[in-house]
Amino acid sequence: MEFSKLGRNNILNQSLLSYDIIIIGGGITGAGILLDATNRGLKAILLEKNDFASGTSSKSTKLIHGGLRYLKNLEFGLVREVGLERAVLYNNALHIIHPEKMLLPIVQNGTLGMKSSALALFTYDYLAGVSDKDKKKMLTKKQVVGLEPLINEEILLGGALYTEYRCDDYRIVMEVLKKAVSLGGVAINYAEVIDFIYENTICKGVKIEDRLTNTIKTIHGKIIINATGPWVDDLRVIDKSKNGKQLHLTKGIHIVVNHSKLPIKQSIYFDTKDDRMIFAIPRNGIVYIGTTDTDFDKDKDNINVSVEDKTYLINAIQNVFPGIAIDLSDIVAEWAGLRPLIHEEGKNPSELSRKDEIFIAPSKMVSIAGGKLTGYRKMAEKVVDGSMKKLKKYYQYPFKPCTTKYLKLSGGDFLNEKAFAIYKLHILDIVKQIPYTEKQVLNLVYRYGSNTEQIVTMAYDFVNNGFSPQTALLQAEVTYCKEYEMVHTFEDFWIRRTG
Ligand code: FAD
Repeated sequence: MEFSKLGRNNILNQSLLSYDIIIIGGGITGAGILLDATNRGLKAILLEKNDFASGTSSKSTKLIHGGLRYLKNLEFGLVREVGLERAVLYNNALHIIHPEKMLLPIVQNGTLGMKSSALALFTYDYLAGVSDKDKKKMLTKKQVVGLEPLINEEILLGGALYTEYRCDDYRIVMEVLKKAVSLGGVAINYAEVIDFIYENTICKGVKIEDRLTNTIKTIHGKIIINATGPWVDDLRVIDKSKNGKQLHLTKGIHIVVNHSKLPIKQSIYFDTKDDRMIFAIPRNGIVYIGTTDTDFDKDKDNINVSVEDKTYLINAIQNVFPGIAIDLSDIVAEWAGLRPLIHEEGKNPSELSRKDEIFIAPSKMVSIAGGKLTGYRKMAEKVVDGSMKKLKKYYQYPFKPCTTKYLKLSGGDFLNEKAFAIYKLHILDIVKQIPYTEKQVLNLVYRYGSNTEQIVTMAYDFVNNGFSPQTALLQAEVTYCKEYEMVHTFEDFWIRRTG
């Protein structure tokens, strides 16, 4: 099945479009559902109004969490589920998920003291089934300063080192979608659902606006799933079913500074003065810092990063690293995303649970919201289990259980870490006659994993056709994304590449 503009047009030009499941929303939640449904043999289509992963799913802190923060709210079940899930995701996408040691300084009047941190991290390691090499290590004040000399010694009591998993959020969405498409699923970008089709009050299809051709199309489906993240309630409004529980959107921003401005030696998760915690994560010559958590009720398609948001993060940095002089002018990039959380009366943004919930409307439209990037596979399992039960009851489909736990994502076809390491050497060997730097080549491997060979082979062809090596590599990557990732223009490609 093609995953290109041509493939997209061929599908949309069919006179009758009818599916078992229509999934609205091309973020991680929708992508996960498409993969699980397709993997269980269902005929499924996903519709995304902008580009894939253009919503919250490319605006996160880019961590596959073990769920440490949930301990604070005593959500033990969630810690366990998320921790175990992290290991599954890592195993299935070794190229885009990487273990990262996180320093947790323990400070006076901080969220956790030395004893409570040791207890919390021990509980966390136990509940989340953390492997021996990733288990927490408690540190003395001297050890913390040894690891991170910039830290404010005056308020420091000690610290801990634990493991988070860093990822490329947008690439996870793409690799999930690509796997789904390789199994027969359909994913279409720039297709906005603008209305629903009903048969005897039951939702049996959607009307879409093809944003590339400005035409309206109708697609029929047995089950309609609303996985539009922050937009979930907008579709519930169209369906006239926005009753009972509702979304509570909170905004989270990140800022980026050059590493020379904040030369930390490693990733840090530290306290803010208002009882929250934020990350500073060095990566490829920059450091990104985040996040904030504030109520949001403005235009979801234009989320602004305010001076107040940025100042909050800068102040937090200066509190922990007093020797660092950064101000607004040092910010080289920023991004903002919305958390699609479930409203709970009387709770402030940081207290709201990150748990996911499913709402079933009188029209039988299924909406799923809340959750985390990290929990996408389990969220999909719940939704597809429910859909399969319905398809069995009303259409006599056989019930098939979820097996995505054992399914490598596209690009993740490696038996284990050793096999991935060997593959990297293999790719470096293939390109050794062209003057690419190791970093350039490995960056490709960290984006495309086991599909990288296709790109470097294309680059070779371009070089043989007279392109300079650098132009050839870029051209090969763009060509690959146009053919296998439904990129339409160079601008699309570049936005995806740079977030
Ligand atoms: P989205 O990614 O927003 O996808 C919904 C999609 O629906 C959008 O692409 C939108 O364009 C589309 N859509 C809307 N309306 C329509 C329509 N009418 N027709 C067609 N398509 C439509 N989680 C983690 O696990 N780790 C982290 O480090 C982490 N950090 C975070 C940091 C921040 C600041 C935020 C805000 C969240 C973070 N999260 C993290 C949570 C995680 O990012 C989200 O839970 C997840 O990305 C939500 O995905 P989604 O698919 O539900 O929503």
